[in-house]
Amino acid sequence: MDIQQNLERIREKIRQACEKTNRNPDEITIIGVTKYVTIERAKALVDLGITNLGENRSDGFLQKYEKIEKDATWHFIGTLQSRKVKDVIDYVDYLHSLDRKSLAKEVNKRAKRPIPCFVQVNVSGEETKHGLAPEEVIPFIEEMEQFPNVYIIGLMTMAPHTDNEGEIRQVFRKLRQLRDEIMEKGFQYAPCKFLSMGMSNDYEIAIEEGATHIRLGSTLVGNEWK
Ligand SMILES: *Cc1c(COP(=O)(O)O)cnc(C)c1O
Repeated sequence: MDIQQNLERIREKIRQACEKTNRNPDEITIIGVTKYVTIERAKALVDLGITNLGENRSDGFLQKYEKIEKDATWHFIGTLQSRKVKDVIDYVDYLHSLDRKSLAKEVNKRAKRPIPCFVQVNVSGEETKHGLAPEEVIPFIEEMEQFPNVYIIGLMTMAPHTDNEGEIRQVFRKLRQLRDEIMEKGFQYAPCKFLSMGMSNDYEIAIEEGATHIRLGSTLVGNEWK
């Protein structure tokens, strides 16, 4: 699969989704999710200008980081075990999966600088998904004030496994409403402006509902280790 062609197709779809909703495509950051592909393929993506890379496991993250390092901005997008924080935190530019206080505490302790974080929210309520329940999010963010190295810049969610577009849209919309509610509170330590939502199958809907960071794996780089 040709990455450049994929990228052109994706950019066109982003443009259309933005046009529909009166948004500026420059507001949207594409995170290339490289967990399924080789370091070479990840490098090819960087060469094409996709310099935001996402990995969901600490070993894969470190392998890619070692070889690409300064050429990219690094997003940790998967569940992070507290005991792995010390291994990766120095290299993480953005953490998308802050989902519990014990993790925040460990990040705060190990990081040498404030880490921009997205709070992961389980909007759909599916049991297999990580993240806080929507009603837990504001109290959680209030607790983050005690952790100066945890800097809440937004919310993240994953859409439910369904073909029902309306259901997916509802989930993204709820995340945006929650973000708006948090922003109104004006927490100094938690600006919470951004929305990390939308993957290969649903990024256009996510953009229509306000996504600022989309996380694209298979539709961009493919999903086979090759
Ligand atoms: C794998 C993964 C993605 C990308 O998935 P695709 O459907 O291949 O685009 C996005 N976000 C998270 C958290 C992931 O684990």
